[in-house]
Amino acid sequence: MKKLLFSTIILLCFLLSPISSISQTADKSNPKLVIGIVVDQMRYDYLTRFYNKYGEGGFKRLMNEGFNCKNNHFNYVPTYTGPGHASVYTGTTPKYHGIISNNWYDKESKETVYCAGDESVNSVGTLKADGKMSPHRMQTTTFADENRLYTQKQGKTIGVSIKDRGAILPAGHTANAAYWFRGKSEGKFISSTYYMTELPKWVSDFNASGKVASYLKPWNTLYDIATYTESGKDLNTFEGVFNGKETATFPYDLKKLSKINGGYDILKSTAYGNSIVTDFAIAAVEGEQLGTDAITDVLAVSYSSTDYIGHKFGVNSKEVQDTYLRLDLELEKLLNFLDDKIGEMEYTVFLTADHGAVDVPAYLKSLNVPAGYVDNSDMKTKFTEFMTKTYGTSDLVENVSNNQVFLNREKIKALGLDLSAVQQTIVNELITYNDIDKAYTAHAMISTSFPDGIEHMIQNGFNQKRSGDVIVVYNPAYISYSHTGSTHGSGFNYDTHVPLLFYGKGVKQGSTVTRTVIPDIAPTMSALLNISFPSGATGSPLEFVIKK
Ligand SMILES: [Zn+2]
Repeated sequence: MKKLLFSTIILLCFLLSPISSISQTADKSNPKLVIGIVVDQMRYDYLTRFYNKYGEGGFKRLMNEGFNCKNNHFNYVPTYTGPGHASVYTGTTPKYHGIISNNWYDKESKETVYCAGDESVNSVGTLKADGKMSPHRMQTTTFADENRLYTQKQGKTIGVSIKDRGAILPAGHTANAAYWFRGKSEGKFISSTYYMTELPKWVSDFNASGKVASYLKPWNTLYDIATYTESGKDLNTFEGVFNGKETATFPYDLKKLSKINGGYDILKSTAYGNSIVTDFAIAAVEGEQLGTDAITDVLAVSYSSTDYIGHKFGVNSKEVQDTYLRLDLELEKLLNFLDDKIGEMEYTVFLTADHGAVDVPAYLKSLNVPAGYVDNSDMKTKFTEFMTKTYGTSDLVENVSNNQVFLNREKIKALGLDLSAVQQTIVNELITYNDIDKAYTAHAMISTSFPDGIEHMIQNGFNQKRSGDVIVVYNPAYISYSHTGSTHGSGFNYDTHVPLLFYGKGVKQGSTVTRTVIPDIAPTMSALLNISFPSGATGSPLEFVIKK
């Protein structure tokens, strides 16, 4: 009997071992498709504040069946869209990838440049200049680039967004294509000659389908507005108003309003902008046959309307709440489509944001929270007077933008002044201004290593070749912006704390409150795919997320 039992076990082991090794091999294979989702201006608390109103198949599916990093932050300033998208996909910060803002003053050409602008390429799909774009200013690779290199270009990369920079920077240098939305009178997705000479048939078909025009319809709340108890009153003084409408209140007749709000551009500032992106992302998976073989493809999807809506109506608005309840359904639609098309657990998703946003400072002030608006013109007058008095000329300052002062190196040299001494003199002056909380010299940024705090975040955002000579930090919740709507850009938690969800093949189920940072995402994806890390990656793979 004992002998029989023993041989039965041996037999079982023999039978089971090939099976387990097959399943192990299957488990180790890479996902057929990686979908990176960036939700523009999504604060972490949108996951929790609206949780009870979400369905089971969107955010909740990612949160509960995937891995939820609850304490995920940007680790640099400025927290803007261009740097955000670049940092998510390159796994590093502006110090290395070079996207120091959306627009910045270029010290060499002495002109303001746009992060995705490229005069050497042309538009595809429009006669307008909106397509003269490429990722050429981004200096390091994205994990999608590394996947292209690893797979001998057999794995595809496609980027999709309303905003050009939201599609272009994530997709990287080697992308097959990036597509973004041109509104105005056109209402279609376009691209640039950086990627192609003409739009593929599936894109032209999408543009001709009338799908975009079908969203020029009334926007009302998804559910009874009386049940939206997680946001402020619909009528208040903290929200921007569309042209031709008296108040920022539901419902919005988009067809009528489009005529005096930039044609199809109005859709960007409504929940339907996200629907258009979902429709187009699905068309991209079909049209490019993404995820149909064992070689991993990457689809970078960026939802930009959330940012336009936050800027217009503010963090606490009914419009923001409705947008997220509807985005939840868009995610459900996308995930269900991927289940059918590629197979459940055959793809991997991550979802994050490019930055958060501050509550409307006027609203915070009404609740006695320290907040306010920076008076730029007053500061400029005072600063110009100071420079003239100190140096006999105000020409030493070449440009002031992105909370930075750019000095004229030639003039400083001609006057026989010491650059770092001038920087320090300016810091000593600016720190006396009411709205400025902190100020640093570029000299400090390159000569000192700051291990933590706002100094560390500024250093991570500081690019020696591209950044300015003096960097200032405004008081918490002080913004240089209109008195309605929200904005972002700082190193404070309201701008840095954003969702980070992983889901699908190769991802563990769970959550953590351990601090993670945006540059950890790309190395995590590289580790999950077992490929090289992006060239400038400074983040670390999140070991607790990846199934071994
Ligand atoms: Zn924004």
